Amino acid sequence: MTVYFNGSYIDKADVSISPDDRGFVFGDGVYEVARAEDGALFQLDAHRRRLARSLEAIRIHDVDPDALWERVRGLLPRNGLDAGPAKVYLQVTRGAAPRQHAFPDASTEPTVYARASAHEPPLARWRNGVKVILRPDQRWDRCDIKSLNYLPNVLANQAAQEAGAYEALLVRDGFVTEGSHSSVAAVFDGTVTVHPFTNRTLPGITREVVLELCEDLGRPVETFPVAVDALPDADELFLMGTTTGVMPIVQVDDWTVGDGTPGPVAQELLAAFRALEPA
Ligand code: PLP
Repeated sequence: MTVYFNGSYIDKADVSISPDDRGFVFGDGVYEVARAEDGALFQLDAHRRRLARSLEAIRIHDVDPDALWERVRGLLPRNGLDAGPAKVYLQVTRGAAPRQHAFPDASTEPTVYARASAHEPPLARWRNGVKVILRPDQRWDRCDIKSLNYLPNVLANQAAQEAGAYEALLVRDGFVTEGSHSSVAAVFDGTVTVHPFTNRTLPGITREVVLELCEDLGRPVETFPVAVDALPDADELFLMGTTTGVMPIVQVDDWTVGDGTPGPVAQELLAAFRALEPA
């Protein structure tokens, strides 16, 4: 596999990262995951903006996000991924320096790593819907930064896997924020309800795309946090994410959503989502 590492395309086996790298030591970095089709990245502008915002938020300044995305896109042909669905992973850390909490010397170069791999669209899950579980949201107060610090998400998702579920919906102060690696929407009387963009959720790019699709389809949208107690009143629930797409939820813990099959709103949005071209 050819990967991108600190300015060069090299074989993955030749990547050498220092044990002093602050990504390894502190999770001091940010990342992005984007989807591709036939060599073109979906929502490139949105990913570019979000990466720039994340870098700004954690004060890594020595990276040109635009040039970087061009290099990331270049991974697709180099890995025989310029036909069909693929995904790219990109991360930037504050670089390698002797361990201290405060930022290292200004001459420390960020570490940049990106790879591309094939992507299998989750067709069976889209068709059948998935189970989720509810877990406490134990994350920090800047969930709007796509940082490498995903330990609470990892633990919540592991709990989901152990419960035979696809995802954990996170609950803070009695309200559902999002999934461990996806955004969430609830449908009440035909209206799609999503959490507002605050410090408590990641600004999900698929969520934005879905809201645009709702507008195109004339479907009403409301933006407010859904109380966990109101979840059973929802006609439908669904997840949204770069690799998740629009995924109907049919079970939450031990109760069934609607009649236990993917609902019409999620199905309509999934169909519209699948018809989108990279842009
Ligand atoms: N929320 C969290 C916590 C995530 O980690 C992700 C994706 O990784 C999302 C939401 C969905 O974001 P996007 O649609 O940009 O993939």
